[in-house]
Amino acid sequence: MSYLNHSHKRLRTIDITFSAALLLLTVMLFLSYFIRTELAKTNVLTQHTYDVIMAVDNLNNSMLQAESSRRGYILTGNVQQKSRCEIFAQSAQENLREVKELTVDNQSQQRRLARLDELMQRKIAVFKLSISHYDRMGFRGPEQAQLTEEGTSLMTAVRTGIDEIKSHEKTLLSERRARERTTLLILTVVVLSGILIAIILLSLSYYIARHESRSHIIAAGHLQAANRDISDLSSMTQLLQSCADFEEARGILSCYGEKFFPKDPGGIYLLNPSRTLMTDAATWGGADRKPFNPDQCWAMRLGQTHLSAAASDVQCQHVEVGGSRAHLCIPLAAHHETLGTLSLDLGLPQGTDEEFLERKRLKAGAFAEQVALAVRSLQLREQLRELSIRDPLTGLLNRRHMEESLLREISRATRTRQPLSVVMLDVDHFKNFNDTFGHEAGDHVLKEVGQVLQKNVRDSDIACRFGGEEFTLILPEADCDTALEICNRIRSSVKELQLVMGRQHLGHITISAGISVFPSDGDTIQQLLATADEALYEAKEKGRDRVIGSCTALSTTETDSKT
Ligand code: GH3
Ligand code: MG
Ligand code: MG
Repeated sequence: MSYLNHSHKRLRTIDITFSAALLLLTVMLFLSYFIRTELAKTNVLTQHTYDVIMAVDNLNNSMLQAESSRRGYILTGNVQQKSRCEIFAQSAQENLREVKELTVDNQSQQRRLARLDELMQRKIAVFKLSISHYDRMGFRGPEQAQLTEEGTSLMTAVRTGIDEIKSHEKTLLSERRARERTTLLILTVVVLSGILIAIILLSLSYYIARHESRSHIIAAGHLQAANRDISDLSSMTQLLQSCADFEEARGILSCYGEKFFPKDPGGIYLLNPSRTLMTDAATWGGADRKPFNPDQCWAMRLGQTHLSAAASDVQCQHVEVGGSRAHLCIPLAAHHETLGTLSLDLGLPQGTDEEFLERKRLKAGAFAEQVALAVRSLQLREQLRELSIRDPLTGLLNRRHMEESLLREISRATRTRQPLSVVMLDVDHFKNFNDTFGHEAGDHVLKEVGQVLQKNVRDSDIACRFGGEEFTLILPEADCDTALEICNRIRSSVKELQLVMGRQHLGHITISAGISVFPSDGDTIQQLLATADEALYEAKEKGRDRVIGSCTALSTTETDSKT
């Protein structure tokens, strides 16, 4: 899957986890608020129940105090006790009213309170009767005893009523407390787990976002490097296109090879014209410059990239780094022709991570592609140049190039004060030869003569086809004697040629030549060529198969000049 797809997937995951965390936190917030409100309500109810219980206790207390004050008064006759009894009876009634008000929304309690109210009224009536009886008749008397007895049973009923009310409130209290505990437990569990999940989701989004941003930084780095490579490739292509010849291109290729693969020693190896040897066109990082056989490179044999990155991979035979390092060979192919190979010692231990190797392979592939195109274009230009300066039949340089070379050699000879010989050479009776054996045989002879010329001159000499069956030799640093020696050697070689075409024997041919020498015979192209031509004409005149120059002018016999 591509980097972009991965990135989209990660961003979607961040969206989902982050939104889920936010949603969860919002729900937790609302839930906490809701539960808090519920708790507050339960709290109010609990407090209310406490208030009711307290009011009931006060009621109970007032009744008990009233009863004990009544008894105290009857036993001691203390007037204070009498008024205390009245006050507590009064306060008990107020307490009852308070309890009624507090429990106004509770029907069952209201019914109990109504019953209690009735009992209390009766009890208070008994208080009053008992006190008034005491005030009238004193402690003694059967009525008082009866009133006490009646009061005691009423008091028991009142207390039972109070206990019922209190026990109902206690039941309510314990129910509310239980609900409060449950609500608190739910709140704790839900909120804590919600927060925990939200933290996990937020951590997950943070982790993915961090990972994503790191990936972005790495990708941006790769993009920057790729841009740099593209710009380098383009400048390399531009430079290679403006190279005058292949020698110039070598320097540029080495420089850019080093720039592209500073840590990977390598080279560009090209097939020689006979396609038998791979020689280095450029190397960098101390790579091996030894030529090798094309069959020693798997990229050349298979016509595709060959990477040996693991110990089990087959390695090219021309690689000498040993089996422990990764090596990459990419064929240089342009216009369906394999020109050579880009060989890179990746300088990495084998088993290096695949993504890294793939990036290297892509980069080297792009480099190889541009190099192949540039090399092919240089080769084509070289071929075109060769075509433009060489005669297609003999392979010798043509007349135009000869004139350019002669001009250059004249200036060099002027500078170095050295002699320079120019030879005009012509096949004798070539017309007859053509007429006898045909034009094709004539061409064959011209080729043979061309080869003889090429073999008999030094590298610094220039052999050209002047036109038709005429040839020109430019012999730098050669005086007339040297030129004469060379020409005679050529003349003998041509004479000895066994001319055969197919099965047909073509006999033998001879040549005549005229020499002119710079500066004695002239110092311009025209003068030198004209003098050599005149000498050639003289050689023809004198019977052909001979060489004439200023140094042969003194020779009187034909035999002398021939040897
Ligand atoms: P001479 O000894 O005086 O030089 O006699 P010649 O016959 O060699 O000279 P001439 O100039 O009369 O004839 C030159 C001939 O060379 C004429 C032409 O048919 C032939 N010739 C010129 N160019 C070519 C070529 O490219 N191929 C062939 N086969 N013949 C050519
Ligand atoms: Mg001729
Ligand atoms: Mg001629």
